[in-house]
Amino acid sequence: MAGDARGGDADGGDPVSDTVSDARVAVGPGRPVIPAERYQQRMEEASRLASEAGLDALLLGVGPELRYLTGYGAMPLERLTMLVLSARGRARLVVPRLEVSPARSSPAAAAGLVEIVTWDETDDAHGLAASLAGTRAPRGRVAVSNALWALHVLGLQRALPGAEFSLATAVLRRLRMRKDAEEIALLRSAAHAADRVVEQIATGRLVGRSEAEVAHEVRERLVAEGHDSATFAIVGSGPNSASPHHEAGDRLIRAGEPIVLDIGGTLGGYGSDVARTLWVTGGGSAYGPDLAFRELFAVLLDAQRLATVAVRPGVACEAIDAAARGHITEHGYGPQFFHRVGHGIGLEAHEEPYLVAGNDEPLDVGFAFSVEPGIYLEGRYGARIEDIVVCGADGPVVLNEAGRDLWVVDG
Ligand code: ZN
Ligand code: ZN
Repeated sequence: MAGDARGGDADGGDPVSDTVSDARVAVGPGRPVIPAERYQQRMEEASRLASEAGLDALLLGVGPELRYLTGYGAMPLERLTMLVLSARGRARLVVPRLEVSPARSSPAAAAGLVEIVTWDETDDAHGLAASLAGTRAPRGRVAVSNALWALHVLGLQRALPGAEFSLATAVLRRLRMRKDAEEIALLRSAAHAADRVVEQIATGRLVGRSEAEVAHEVRERLVAEGHDSATFAIVGSGPNSASPHHEAGDRLIRAGEPIVLDIGGTLGGYGSDVARTLWVTGGGSAYGPDLAFRELFAVLLDAQRLATVAVRPGVACEAIDAAARGHITEHGYGPQFFHRVGHGIGLEAHEEPYLVAGNDEPLDVGFAFSVEPGIYLEGRYGARIEDIVVCGADGPVVLNEAGRDLWVVDG
């Protein structure tokens, strides 16, 4: 165990409210469950918005949009799987015959909310999906999911030559940004699991091990703590801590240097993403953080808190970025904070809203995103603090609980 691992908030108090209630969320053994009626509500709402947008149908391939509306998390493959959701509210899931069994057991299908339409190996799957879109030939308007493979987009365009294609994001983004109680409960479970891994790593052996070895341990522990899978494990030691998206490598961790730990995965489909900065002493007081690093970190900690407490409904996304950036710039580190302050998180690790200069979209209750300023002195060292924050009715609800102060550890 580390001698003086410190995890508490610098000011000793939690500056956040907890107004997003999850009291109604069914918690099974281990993880929150999204009830079938939620999928029904989402599909009804999506149909209504599609109709308002003058679309005939949403054509959603495997990916976060399909999972959001039906709970079906299939593998993206060259064989077409597609939810065809008409603007009149009819929901059909086109699936290859060999995947009919998992499709049937997906939450929305199991609850009878979608009709399964199968196709055989030699059928024209794009033609089948197109025929269910309800477009009036030769025209029509359909919207496809963001990351639908070009293979499928071109196939659909061949099948609907007169139709106008757009992105379903325009319709679904408002729904997906506002997380409901179950989604917040899943994000919270994921955040707490990742927090436990931060603590386990911070209090374990570090000196003399390679970044890659520690990253491997992070991934194993994320899964052991309940994640479906580990998505990333940034372990940036010494000068590598100044590289925000450092790929953990062969460098051996030494006493007397910082480590930026930025880790995450998915739990019940929802992402975790937490960053904490450690200083490894090797057990010797001679290897504590130097004054320059302590000063840099103090500025960063205040910036992260200022950005967090600025969160409330109606505040523009860019104002959260500005709250952190203004403070960091005031203290002379402006050019050393060269990325946006945060990104939305949910079924995707990075999704809307993006907290960046130029985005004047107002925050709304239920928006979930990271708040993660960093200061990086290239070639020397750097630091980052990241929490997942939900916009509550009265202010920020911070999902992560691991202490944000500098973790000074024996390693
Ligand atoms: Zn991160
Ligand atoms: Zn992040």
